[in-house]
Amino acid sequence: MEETLFIRLEDIARGLGFADFGAARMEPLEEPARRLDSYLEEGRNAGMDYMGRNVDKRKDPSLLLESAGSVLCFVVPYGKARKGTPVASFALGKDYHKVMKDRLYTFLSQASPLMEAASGAAVRARVFVDSAPVMDRAWAVESGLGFYGCNNFFISQAVGIRCLIGIILCNVDFSLLDCPQLRLKKQAVPKDCGRCGSCISHCPTGALKAPYTLDAGRCISYHTVENKTLYEPGDRPVDFAGYIFGCEECMRACPWDKETDPWPELVCNKEYIESLSAADWKAMSSEEFEKHFAGTSLTRAGLLKIKNNC
Ligand code: SF4
Ligand code: SF4
Repeated sequence: MEETLFIRLEDIARGLGFADFGAARMEPLEEPARRLDSYLEEGRNAGMDYMGRNVDKRKDPSLLLESAGSVLCFVVPYGKARKGTPVASFALGKDYHKVMKDRLYTFLSQASPLMEAASGAAVRARVFVDSAPVMDRAWAVESGLGFYGCNNFFISQAVGIRCLIGIILCNVDFSLLDCPQLRLKKQAVPKDCGRCGSCISHCPTGALKAPYTLDAGRCISYHTVENKTLYEPGDRPVDFAGYIFGCEECMRACPWDKETDPWPELVCNKEYIESLSAADWKAMSSEEFEKHFAGTSLTRAGLLKIKNNC
């Protein structure tokens, strides 16, 4: 089969350790935009006001990069904490935003000469990892890498539900990337969860009452990571006893919760985190927290909030 630009870029992505690579034409995505409108209208974003900002850019990423033509999309698996660990698995290592961005910039430096040779124009690009108004899950679906789970997670055909998404918006004309290999890849992806529903029946708080309708105001992950309020005992809006940073019940119940082969940086604190009891977290000093968790996702909540969650 002819070696297309897509195949050559995919080889670079895999050589850098990305588990999967896809591409899509840059254009507004109607169905994800409709879901975003419902989510905001129904107030399911709870206190995450940032979700309601830059909605125009979320819906149309060409507003983020003039003359953008393509979306390149990358998938990386993260580790899996031992069952019963009160910290979410995505926080077992270094902050994935930085780790992934570094490799995406390396990808760009290696791929740009190929893209420039194909397009005849200098490459202009922006890199995003869960850090800007980009609907990354929608683009991962559009790029042929997987599908939306009923629990609102993106499910990767290659590595399952425990995955992170990296996005590069670039000015390369999508027609240079479209090829039989990419079209076959997109055809092979399941469209949805079928008749499963396991995540809905396993959610301990009723945050997931129906497919695709996560209510952040009832979600343990929201209350232990994003919600900065410190609660008095008994005042918690939902019962999250036993969860210190995040909740994975709707992932662990999923048949797409596969064993993964994460990058070492993303699991470098796994053994230490698994060894800590709630009492250890309660007794942790700022110095210890800084020593072990500077530059990790746990700083998003901070030690004070983590102790309050215990
Ligand atoms: S993270 Fe936990 S609380 Fe939130 S929807 Fe999933 S199972 Fe429910
Ligand atoms: S548990 Fe079942 S319904 Fe829920 S996301 Fe996984 S496959 Fe979909």
